[in-house]
Amino acid sequence: MLRVAVIGSGPSGVYTAQSLIQQQVVPDLEVHVLDRLPCPYGLVRYGVAPDHEKIKSLQNNLRAVLEHPAVHFLGNVRIGAPGLEPADLLRGYHAVVYCVGAATDRRLGIPGEELPGSVSATDFVSWYSAHPDAAGSGFALGARSAVVIGVGNVAVDVARILGRGADELRGTDIPHAALDALSGSRVADIHMVGRRGPSQAKFTTKELRELGALPSASVLLRADELSMDPDFTDPAGLPTANRRNVEVLRGWAAVPPSDRPRRLHLRFFLRPVSVLGSEQGVTGVRFERTRPDGRGGVVGTGRFEVVEAQLVLRSVGYHGVPVPGLPFDAERGTVPHAAGRVLRDGAPSPGEYVAGWIKRGPTGVIGTNRPCAKETAGSVLADAAALVGRALSADPREVMRAAGQEPVEWPGWRGIEAAEAALGRELGRNSVKIPDWDGLLTAARTGG
Ligand code: NAP
Repeated sequence: MLRVAVIGSGPSGVYTAQSLIQQQVVPDLEVHVLDRLPCPYGLVRYGVAPDHEKIKSLQNNLRAVLEHPAVHFLGNVRIGAPGLEPADLLRGYHAVVYCVGAATDRRLGIPGEELPGSVSATDFVSWYSAHPDAAGSGFALGARSAVVIGVGNVAVDVARILGRGADELRGTDIPHAALDALSGSRVADIHMVGRRGPSQAKFTTKELRELGALPSASVLLRADELSMDPDFTDPAGLPTANRRNVEVLRGWAAVPPSDRPRRLHLRFFLRPVSVLGSEQGVTGVRFERTRPDGRGGVVGTGRFEVVEAQLVLRSVGYHGVPVPGLPFDAERGTVPHAAGRVLRDGAPSPGEYVAGWIKRGPTGVIGTNRPCAKETAGSVLADAAALVGRALSADPREVMRAAGQEPVEWPGWRGIEAAEAALGRELGRNSVKIPDWDGLLTAARTGG
């Protein structure tokens, strides 16, 4: 028998498990999918915005993998806890595949970044996604004006959630406290700001288009900023994805904006210099105007502009965090690897693998994880003969218990699902997420 642990039950972890069982190279294979949360699905549950119901329904595909007879879900297991480091896991598994994602946000490194009212978009996403580690409701939704720094898909998500009325979110699984807070939101102006031009924005066209279809927010563009980008004026030479973005923006720029209660300002060629304010809260962001340098980057112009805001969401990308006991490339935020095999001092480390964002960095959409996971699973299976030659010295559940970890297995997760459905019924809504550790663990232990 080949016994494999996959660490992380987000898309990369579940696609790795799927790829291992589908390739049917090893007749007797057991895959344990571990997660530090008692709930599976990683960023599909805790990152995909609640109003993206179609993407969220991917959970059904991931569920089918986790319910496969050769696959076992073990949640509430914290790797890195004393007694549960990579070397300990290898006592119970022939191979361990780390699919732990990129758990933190990148920093801007500018003055004022930590002032009250300046928060990372990842914290905001965790809050409206009911992540049990979310910082709480300390978001300045009394603000009239919000600045979102960055123009990637996470920036689009947080700008869209701010631009929606609470009524538009009531039918989703957003936690009740977040829905209440958003229904009291006074945010009327949302400024989403890129340091480069519109043709270089990282958002994808489908996500961009949604901003133009919000029932209660209009998109506003600045002709002077758009025209600074030579590829906006003539997008013919752009890669398809960027050209489509530009076509959407050109379409919007050609017609007068609609008149809706909230305004979503898409701004370009502004690089953040400092977040302004005091311990009482932020008051705005000071930007330096930039211009294209002709090589895909920008240079500063020495001209500055302040955008007034009482809420600043920094959305400049994720960054991987080290797993204690694994090698780590701090600059890239990834684990060094060759075709998914973890490299220690440049050589493959027997039985240790990576897939997903901790392997390739925080880029791509959910589907990008499929080929990435397949490559890693292929490496595990190619190594299978050597891996099974090593005798295991412990039962994996015993290793976890010895480290003080009490796994929540599939029936426990089904208990959480039942409790969330019951909470939704109580509130007159669809299934509503439980936002705290106690609530999740109680539901897991008592079956809802
Ligand atoms: P991202 O796509 O890497 O975008 C980061 C943004 O931050 C870029 O606009 C970047 O500008 C900007 N930025 C970085 N450093 C900056 C700085 N110092 N000052 C100002 N701006 C800065 O990251 P993300 O939005 O966090 O998304 C992460 C991944 O998740 C992406 O692959 C994304 O597509 C995916 N995702 C997908 C969906 C979806 O499919 N619906 C939803 C959410 C996330 P530059 O380009 O100039 O560096």
